[in-house]
Amino acid sequence: MRVLLVEDDDALARVLTRGMAEEGHAVDHAGTVAAAAEAHAVNQYDLVVLDLGLPDGDGVALCRDLRATGATTPILMLTARDALSDKVAGLDAGADDYLTKPFAYPELAARVRALLRRPRETVSPVLACGDVRLDPAAHTAWRGAIMIPLTPREFSLLDYLLRRAGQVCTREDLLEHVWDAHYDGLSNVVDVHIANLRRKLEQPGRPDPLQTVRGVGYRLVDER
Ligand code: CA
Repeated sequence: MRVLLVEDDDALARVLTRGMAEEGHAVDHAGTVAAAAEAHAVNQYDLVVLDLGLPDGDGVALCRDLRATGATTPILMLTARDALSDKVAGLDAGADDYLTKPFAYPELAARVRALLRRPRETVSPVLACGDVRLDPAAHTAWRGAIMIPLTPREFSLLDYLLRRAGQVCTREDLLEHVWDAHYDGLSNVVDVHIANLRRKLEQPGRPDPLQTVRGVGYRLVDER
């Protein structure tokens, strides 16, 4: 597999490059954000190992930029600090896993193997269907360029519908996944929230993305 190693500590980079090469990987080393972005634009990588602190920028921002271009390459983030906020920021930026320095090489090797085993999927941190988008980490939703203010329940409802875009979600599915066991028990609670969500998503000249499938449930579709 072809690996892009982004690490400004040359001694560590040499150790990791040697280790991964011994496992049969082809490793390209970049010591800066700029060099990494250039290498990623030119080559097809199967994995990116990304240090958080780099001389010309920050690994989290680079990770977010790579995801924003639609790259689904697995990203393993290396953080020197055992700070929870760094891990959270890394994962929310689209990293698949992280490792805190110092680490033993066999742990990195095991995580690399695990990441390369996973089927490639959309790893964008933002959920989207047509012009409806939702960022679970930033807790924001948009239709086109317009941000939609949602209540926590509406947010969770839209999140669930987006993850199953194109599929019919029954009222029972929605009650099961969006409401806890203590919902107020109104039989039309789902319909009421769907109606509110639909009203908020409504924009003149744009089709309604939320379809009602009579007698069954609801479906979010890309009507463009
Ligand atoms: Ca560093």
